[in-house]
Amino acid sequence: MECIECYSEKDHITPLLNPKNCLEKHLQYVCGTCGRCLCINKDEKHRQRWNFPFKSLDIAKLYLRAADFTNKKPCGIYEILNSQGRKSYKIFVTIEDLEIYLHKNKDKSCPMVQAVYIKECYQEFSNTKVKFLDIREVEQYLLIQ
Ligand SMILES: [Zn+2]
Ligand SMILES: [Zn+2]
Repeated sequence: MECIECYSEKDHITPLLNPKNCLEKHLQYVCGTCGRCLCINKDEKHRQRWNFPFKSLDIAKLYLRAADFTNKKPCGIYEILNSQGRKSYKIFVTIEDLEIYLHKNKDKSCPMVQAVYIKECYQEFSNTKVKFLDIREVEQYLLIQ
């Protein structure tokens, strides 16, 4: 069943890439409901993982909570087509952000002009933690994975 807080069906599926490094070095959103760790770290350009394109809607959904939580509102996942007709998925805070992106990236389009996935409302949960994991927590998390 999909977690009401972080929208994932699997409580240890993330991080997807280099999980050990991500858990050790990056700030994590720790879901207070299912315990899933979700990278919420900002790089030197203040970008988080959810700012980047995703290969599938399912993967984008795994990072949507980080976007919603950071912006304190429901963000949308949009289906983006490139000039070769290849699909990718990107999270935007508002439809205006999508329009700015399309304006800057003339080879990209968004035929549906609306989010393929968005939550109705933003909710806070009392047990959420945003923190760096200690070594023991990283090891335990990876064991279950
Ligand atoms: Zn990370
Ligand atoms: Zn969860």
